[in-house]
Amino acid sequence: MADDRFHVYDTTLRDGAQQEGLNLTVADKLAIARRLDGLGVGFIEGGWPGANPKDTEFFSRARTELELKHAQLAAFGATRRAGVKAADDPLVAALRESGAPVVTLVAKSHDRHVELALRTTLEENLAMIRDTVSHLRAEGQRVFLDAEHFFDGYKSNPAYALEVVRTAAEAGADVIALCDTNGGMLPDELAEIVHAAVGTSARVGIHCHDDTGCAVANTLAAVKAGATHVQGCANGYGERSGNANLFTVVANLQLKRGYDLVPRESLAEMTRVAHAISEVTNVTPNSHAPYVGMSAFAHKAGLHASAIKVDPNLYQHIDPAQVGNDMRMLVSDMAGRASVELKGRELGYELTPEHTKDLVARVKDLESQGYTFEAADASFELLLRDTVQGERKRHFEVESWRVIVERTKGGELVSEATVKLHAKGERIVATGEGNGPVNALDRAVRFALEQLYPELAKLELIDYKVRILEGTHGTDAVTRVLITSSDERAEWATVGVAENIIDASWQALEQAVTYGLLRAGRDAS
Ligand SMILES: [Zn+2]
Repeated sequence: MADDRFHVYDTTLRDGAQQEGLNLTVADKLAIARRLDGLGVGFIEGGWPGANPKDTEFFSRARTELELKHAQLAAFGATRRAGVKAADDPLVAALRESGAPVVTLVAKSHDRHVELALRTTLEENLAMIRDTVSHLRAEGQRVFLDAEHFFDGYKSNPAYALEVVRTAAEAGADVIALCDTNGGMLPDELAEIVHAAVGTSARVGIHCHDDTGCAVANTLAAVKAGATHVQGCANGYGERSGNANLFTVVANLQLKRGYDLVPRESLAEMTRVAHAISEVTNVTPNSHAPYVGMSAFAHKAGLHASAIKVDPNLYQHIDPAQVGNDMRMLVSDMAGRASVELKGRELGYELTPEHTKDLVARVKDLESQGYTFEAADASFELLLRDTVQGERKRHFEVESWRVIVERTKGGELVSEATVKLHAKGERIVATGEGNGPVNALDRAVRFALEQLYPELAKLELIDYKVRILEGTHGTDAVTRVLITSSDERAEWATVGVAENIIDASWQALEQAVTYGLLRAGRDAS
């Protein structure tokens, strides 16, 4: 079990699941809980048993299906209804019977909410807290209290808000989590109010929403003011603008503030965990997410390229490996003079200043059309050769190509391609069949050229990626195709961009074959 001095409390399965468009099955929730436990969080709030049948099922299945190594499950629920005993309230009974070692009770701490939403007296609200907390404690569960609308409540009636904190702590609640339920707080004011709550000598936690874009900053400010329990959601899921992103909070506290919250090996899995949870929720990962986003350590700084190569730490705030991420050098990295020179040297070319200038201009122009050279080294090298050698001689010239996709009577889809090429003074017409149009084109072009270049028999298309790039600056959307090829000894990638997906594929294919021939030592004649 995790150290109890500081709590990392996840509420993805309850509060995070409120995100628009998110719909988690019980199996999804169990899968997410396993990932969070693997990361090393201390508490996983599973939902509201008794109020939601799916959550009742989650807790019952969790008993037999979840083997948690670090985390404890928490059941979420409300204090008893006004005017009944906690022991007689069926919703409190559902919390008791959930089997969760921890119960997190939500309670009103804003005087106007007590009167208008709960329709009871301020005194009865305190009695509900006192009675429910002490009842569950007596039944053997650990109790935390979520003080709902605490910050707005404090601003409306500070004495009453603090009285809620005091009452819960005296009744035996271990943590009073102060909730910025509407998410409207800013760090400085929030910190002052947390400080006041800490002054009651209750153990204070923090639960923030991101409506001001400050959920993580507010959480850190609360910790600085004395909170020792942080709540948040995986990937910042949650309704409206989301909850505090628990991954960002943990990484910040552990790497910047020296807290020992999760095992170092687990922190190094954080990027993987974040993406694995996105797979379960089916929410596209935010590539710009701090620490775990695809772009979190991606550099496009052409000017800085050479310095980055000498010492990457000059341009990054942490070593990305600490959170399982990688530094990436992007396309425009190529567009810097220094990096183009370096890349040319790496490929065995000494570039003159004119060549470098010319190549930088070409790369920039092609990038603006949607090409990317970061992942397409072979295309970059062909471009470099064109620049250095003038328009290089072609191994083959294309007269035309066409592809037919046919759905047969039996419902089978077959593709057939015909290519017409000129090579070594001959006109060659060849056809190829395949399970898809690109596969058929690939076969056709190789049949056409294999008699002249037998080494093409070894060439294989091993990966094919397609992306639709949204139009920019008034242009239409285009398709980018990346093809990875292999000749048994090495792999290389080429890129094509066009409005039509087959056209883009053809470009990448033509370059893949050309590069394969160059690799085999074939000069075009
Ligand atoms: Zn919330």
